[in-house]
Amino acid sequence: MKIIMLGAPGAGKGTQAKKIAARYGIPHISTGDIFRANIKGGTELGMKAKTFMDQGMLVPDEITIGMLMDRIHEDDCRNGYVLDGFPRTIPQAESLTEALKGMGEAIDYAVNVDVPDENIVSRMGGRRACVACGATYHVEFNAPKAEGVCDTCGEKLVLRDDDKPETVQKRLNVYHEQTQPLIDYYKKAGVLKEVDGTKNMEDVFQDIVAILGV
Ligand code: ADP
Ligand code: ADP
Ligand code: ZN
Repeated sequence: MKIIMLGAPGAGKGTQAKKIAARYGIPHISTGDIFRANIKGGTELGMKAKTFMDQGMLVPDEITIGMLMDRIHEDDCRNGYVLDGFPRTIPQAESLTEALKGMGEAIDYAVNVDVPDENIVSRMGGRRACVACGATYHVEFNAPKAEGVCDTCGEKLVLRDDDKPETVQKRLNVYHEQTQPLIDYYKKAGVLKEVDGTKNMEDVFQDIVAILGV
């Protein structure tokens, strides 16, 4: 099963993608996580990506598409995957469609997690991330057991630099301009599914499971 998560930054794509990955036994592929791992590791790719990410801009397609293509051709992707944060532009979507077509395959579901802009700012301001294992929390809606500490690995939780309010507005603008058109792209492809992302995490997940099947 090949699934794409669509939605604004902070809509809950990552939260739901992790649950889907666990339930259906497929890898969760987050381009944001891959970029952050590269930044942490001090790679050339990471250094290139960081300049854009810090400004709330998209990393250029030339860098992003190649990186994602390499990842989906790895062994663990044979039975499918859930993509979180890719595609984010029409050229990215077209590259993915073409690459899959070349293998006689296609995306099965594009799940749009719909959350209005008003809710996004509080979601992002309260998001806390574990730099060690990638787990995500929310100070109010999904608090860790001990404040500021990751439940899973015990490392310190941080507010991502790009989750500060000044960058969040920029990222929302970028979303509306460059990523929102993908909703129509996947509607035309006949695979778009909408879920109400303002519900609580578990209810959103149940709505997604109803779409994907047991
Ligand atoms: P969020 O989960 O809040 O939407 P991500 O972790 O997915 O954020 O992405 C963080 C940043 O990484 C983005 O703002 C962007 O700079 C970069 N990025 C991630 N995925 C892509 C992509 N597919 N294309 C371009 N840039 C990306
Ligand atoms: P995205 O990957 O789309 O950027 P995340 O999954 O990282 O979004 O979620 C953004 C923030 O909102 C996180 O702090 C997360 O814990 C919280 N969150 C996710 N889903 C919900 C929900 N349904 N209700 C309330 N908060 C949520
Ligand atoms: Zn952790």
